Amino acid sequence: MVHALTEFEKTQIGERQPLPERYLRLSDEEMAARIQAAKDALGSRVVILGHHYQRDEVIRFADHIGDSLKLAQVAATKTAADFIVFCGVHFMAESADILSAPHQQVILPDLAAGCSMADMAAIDQLEVCWNELSQLGAASVVPVTYINSAAAIKAFCGEHGGIVCTSTNAAKVMEWAWARSRQRGGAGRGKVLMLPDQHLGRNTAFTMGVPLDQMAVWDPNEPFGGLTREQVAAAALILWKGHCSVHTRFSVAQIAQFRKQHPDGRVIVHPECTHDVVQAADESGSTEFIIRTVKNSPKGSVWAVGTEIHLVNRLAADVAPDRLVVTLDPFGCLCSTMFRVSPNHLLWTLEGLVEGKVYNRIAVDEPQKSFARVALDRMLEMA
Ligand code: SF4
Repeated sequence: MVHALTEFEKTQIGERQPLPERYLRLSDEEMAARIQAAKDALGSRVVILGHHYQRDEVIRFADHIGDSLKLAQVAATKTAADFIVFCGVHFMAESADILSAPHQQVILPDLAAGCSMADMAAIDQLEVCWNELSQLGAASVVPVTYINSAAAIKAFCGEHGGIVCTSTNAAKVMEWAWARSRQRGGAGRGKVLMLPDQHLGRNTAFTMGVPLDQMAVWDPNEPFGGLTREQVAAAALILWKGHCSVHTRFSVAQIAQFRKQHPDGRVIVHPECTHDVVQAADESGSTEFIIRTVKNSPKGSVWAVGTEIHLVNRLAADVAPDRLVVTLDPFGCLCSTMFRVSPNHLLWTLEGLVEGKVYNRIAVDEPQKSFARVALDRMLEMA
C-alpha cells in the first residue's frame, strides 16, 4: 500500500545536511579535544542530551543521559540553554522541540538517525485506521502512542483525547486510557488503540491481567486492519502491527542457552521484546528499570540483558562492574540508526554553533506541535 511520506522521510529528503569532508578523517584524540573545546566555548548556551543506546565516544559528552522519558522531562525543564543537541534518534529530538521553550532550538547531529519502529506508523495510515474503527463500531476507543513515534502521530493522539507513553509508564498510561474509554461509553474494561509497538502494548497489558484473547492486532496494510467487527468488539486492546527491529532479535532459544551456561544467572529484557521472550525472562522493564535492577543486584550476580548493546556494555563495565553482565544475543544487538550519531557529527554541529550556524535543526510545525504537546503533557502530568 502506498502511503504519504513520514515526517522523518520528508526531513531526510528535504533538509538533511551531510557531514562536510573536513570532518571525516580526524583522530579520536583531536575529535574529543575539539568537541570539549566547542562545548566549553558554548558554555550554558548548549545542553547535550544522550540516550543510553548511544556509543561511548558520544555519550561521554552528554550533560544528561537517560531513556526517552527522562530525556523528555529534561527537555521540558532545562529552558536556560539556547540549543539542545540531542544525541538520540529523530522522534526524541522532535519530542524535545515540542516540549522545549520557544527560544530554544533542537539539533539532531545526523538527521538520518531515525527509528524503524516509529516509521511503521504513518499519519495517513492512522487516519484510515481511525475511520475504519469507527465504521466497525469502536467509537469509544482512546489512542495511546509510544513516544517512539513521529510528531504527527502524537499530534493525532493529542487531538483525539489520547496520550503518549514510554516503556517506564506504559501501565499507568494504559489504565488512564481505559478509564477514559469507559467515560466515552466503552463496555467492560474499555478500548485502547496502542501504537506503534505491538510488543510493548501486549507485554504491558498482559502483566495488568488482560488476557491475550482480549487483544487484537491491527495490520495497517490490510483493509479494516485485517479484523472483523466481532474481533474489534471483543478487544480491550487493539495493537498496531509495529515492532522494534533491535529488540525482536532476542529469542527464547538464547535464554535457554544462557541458562544452560549459567544455571544461577538471571535474564532481564526490555518490553519491546516479543511476548514469549518476556515470559521466559526473569525480569522485564524499561531501560532505566534494567539499569537499576542490575546495579542493585548482589555482587557476583550473573545477568543476561536483552537490550541494545551499548547499554549492555556500559552496564558491564561501569554501572555494575562487580557482576557478570552479558548480552542475551551473542552477536550483540545494535541500533544502527542510533549509531549514526557519530562524534564527527557532534563536533560538526557544536563547532557550527560556535560560528553561529545551526545545522540539522529539528522543528515541528504548528498546529502539529501544539496537539502533540497536549498528548505529551498528559503523560508528563501523570509522572
Ligand atoms: S532500539 Fe528500536 S525502538 Fe529504539 S530507536 Fe532503535 S529501532 Fe527504534
